[in-house]
Amino acid sequence: MAETDIRPTNFIRQIIDKDLQSGLHSTVCTRFPPEPNGYLHIGHAKSICLNFGIAQDYKGSCNLRFDDTNPDKEDIDFVNSIKDDVHWLGFEWNGEERYSSGYFDQLHGYAVELIEKGLAYVDFSSQEAMREMRGTLKEHGKNSRFRETSIETNLAEFSKMTAGEYAEGHCVLRAKIDMSSAFMCMRDPVIYRVKFAHHHQTGDKWCVYPMYDFTHCISDAIEGITHSLCTLEFQDNRRLYDWVIENISIPTQPRQYEFSRLNLEFTVLSKRKLIQLVEEKFVSGWDDPRMPTIAGLRRRGYTPASVREFCKRIGVTKMDNMVEMGMLEACIRDDLNENANRAMAVLDPVKVVIENYPQDSSEMLNAANHPNDEGRGTREVPFSRELYIEAEDFREEANKKFKRLVLGKEVRLRNAYVIRADKVEKDADGKVTTIFCHYDGDTLGKDPADGRKIKGVIHWVSAIHAVPAEIRLYDRLFNVPNPAAEENFAAAINPESLVTKQGWVEPSLKNAEQGVAVQFERTGYFCQDKDSSEERLVFNRTVGLRDTWAKMGG
Ligand code: ATP
Ligand code: MG
Repeated sequence: MAETDIRPTNFIRQIIDKDLQSGLHSTVCTRFPPEPNGYLHIGHAKSICLNFGIAQDYKGSCNLRFDDTNPDKEDIDFVNSIKDDVHWLGFEWNGEERYSSGYFDQLHGYAVELIEKGLAYVDFSSQEAMREMRGTLKEHGKNSRFRETSIETNLAEFSKMTAGEYAEGHCVLRAKIDMSSAFMCMRDPVIYRVKFAHHHQTGDKWCVYPMYDFTHCISDAIEGITHSLCTLEFQDNRRLYDWVIENISIPTQPRQYEFSRLNLEFTVLSKRKLIQLVEEKFVSGWDDPRMPTIAGLRRRGYTPASVREFCKRIGVTKMDNMVEMGMLEACIRDDLNENANRAMAVLDPVKVVIENYPQDSSEMLNAANHPNDEGRGTREVPFSRELYIEAEDFREEANKKFKRLVLGKEVRLRNAYVIRADKVEKDADGKVTTIFCHYDGDTLGKDPADGRKIKGVIHWVSAIHAVPAEIRLYDRLFNVPNPAAEENFAAAINPESLVTKQGWVEPSLKNAEQGVAVQFERTGYFCQDKDSSEERLVFNRTVGLRDTWAKMGG
């Protein structure tokens, strides 16, 4: 079962239930508000599943809103990747996507309203002076001398700021709240700054840009968001969120609720660090299959259902914790075990020659695409005198626990015959290069007639039919469970996070769909990569198999 259909319950849904029962709201509107300054990662998936999941279950709506108040760091490519990723996860936003920048006129109007109410002022103090006057957690801040500027003067100065008459950093617009507040964010926070930047949505129209805390709550209110869900680091900022909404003339009153962000072992989920991995080329790009990005997971062969199921299993709380990578892997395994077709591929080949099989002959054998789902049909797998098997599936000598091919003993070839190993040929280093075998032609799809018990089953491909393929084996990107805690997280990158093999795959895999994982029997789940071409097949390992084959020994 890929996805459980149990409806989740959590403290946010309890709040919503209460708000609907009490009549505070008759419908639920949520939003997902990414900043288009990077690709989405698995942590964002948690937020997406929460916001869109609530909208679905309560028959409400969820907006996609780009939180784009930082034109220097944002890019239209990021906007497009985010839209793709939300769709890929299986969610549809309410109407067109929205942009905080779409509200710049209104936001500017509300800033003017605060000035008119004596609740905002233009401050010409240097950045350093402002930092000093802010105080600390133990010490109150000090009032700026610009705090008492008249309303008329402030209106005139803000107009000049807006008209481009002041240089960047020369002045800012601050909310006039309380320099002695215990919450630093309430000590006259900056709400507008001068920035001569080209914006991907508004072009060169503006040279003043609103700050996040001022923008976010007003955007929520404009859109009629009922429950604004964000991560715990915004807990203190909720005071400012409410202050802004209460002090401007806007009819709706959204409420903010915070939940804990997802932390995942052996990876990083901070956008700043992910950007560094990409820019400093520790990975091949945002969609490198080792990245915890949605694009990376997709390229790796993860399914949308498996990511949604993961988000369901981790739940939503206010408790900070670190989730094991195994949780995520279990979700994709459960999905693919049920839903991936089977095929055969050999990653570390050694040649088998079946001496009693006719020269220059071959046959097509039928193999089931799925052991538990006949509906998935069968495919043809070519069999011939020369095969490849996995080098580790053969030993010259072994005890009974090794249920694979041993010199002088028999094993079943998956979907084919029983063979017996007779002798080997070795190279100068003593490495086995060829295993000479005999096959029992009367064992196709049935046990040997004389009642011999064959315990082991191994996979194989026909040497003349198999297609060469580059197979990329991925492991954890970092060597330590919490790389973010390292002084230099990049130094903790696992040098074996990508190991490339030159293997052989059965011919049917030439047509494997990109990004759709199949099970290479006994080896793991793999999907064709976008680097694949007619000339060169490339496969990514999505995830290894659960150790079900372990009982076969080895
Ligand atoms: P970062 O701090 O790494 O730059 P961010 O939080 O600034 O990430 P945004 O684009 O602003 O990134 O995030 C959009 C939404 O996704 C926000 O509501 C944010 O709270 C949520 N989000 C981001 N990271 C996580 C995470 N690890 N777990 C859960 N939600 C997250
Ligand atoms: Mg953010």
